[in-house]
Amino acid sequence: MTPKLAMTVFLIGAVIWFIIRIPARRRARKTAVKLSGRGLREKVLMAISLAGLGIVPFVYIATQFGGARLRFLDFAERPFVPALAWLGTLAFAASLWLFYRTHKDLGRNWSVSLDIRESHKLVTTGVYALVRHPMYSAFWLWAVAQALLLPNWIAGLSGIVGFGTLFFGRIGEEERLMCDAFGDEYRAYIRRTARVVPGLY
Ligand code: SAH
Repeated sequence: MTPKLAMTVFLIGAVIWFIIRIPARRRARKTAVKLSGRGLREKVLMAISLAGLGIVPFVYIATQFGGARLRFLDFAERPFVPALAWLGTLAFAASLWLFYRTHKDLGRNWSVSLDIRESHKLVTTGVYALVRHPMYSAFWLWAVAQALLLPNWIAGLSGIVGFGTLFFGRIGEEERLMCDAFGDEYRAYIRRTARVVPGLY
């Protein structure tokens, strides 16, 4: 494993993630929304997450593949450790598998933000039987993979900071919205599942 290969793994992973989302995005446009938790706060959180998981690492990778003059993040380089990059590749593969499963299991109930749709169904099967927020588990895996793959403190850790901000800023609001929509059914689901890591948190 070389730094260039590790960056290529990250780019390919991001493209696969984008492709996994295409059918979900199309379905979402066709399914009416009944109740929404989207507001300015949600928009800001989503922008921060997009910056951390996408824009910062992409800019970094672009500068690494470009000429030496472009590398304005060089001051934050860390040594490249091939074993960590392999671990990051595994984490990214696991993340993509989980993304695929969550989009399948959520079906028409998926949303890029916080929406309760007309005829929204509470999903508690498939990977949703393991934890309540498996898509966020997948994003955490992406963020960890990014830190392991990119040998730069800023581009590597921006995913954990960016997604962490969205996660902790959104999770309470999302669970409140789900309780409003599904009441005791969701409260019982909370009692029997963890949020993102089975048995832990
Ligand atoms: N937090 C979930 C889903 C993220 S997508 C996860 O990490 O897997 C966000 C949308 O999914 C929100 O509009 C929310 O209303 C909906 N949602 C969250 N959990 C759900 C569930 N168990 N069943 C159906 N919809 C759910």
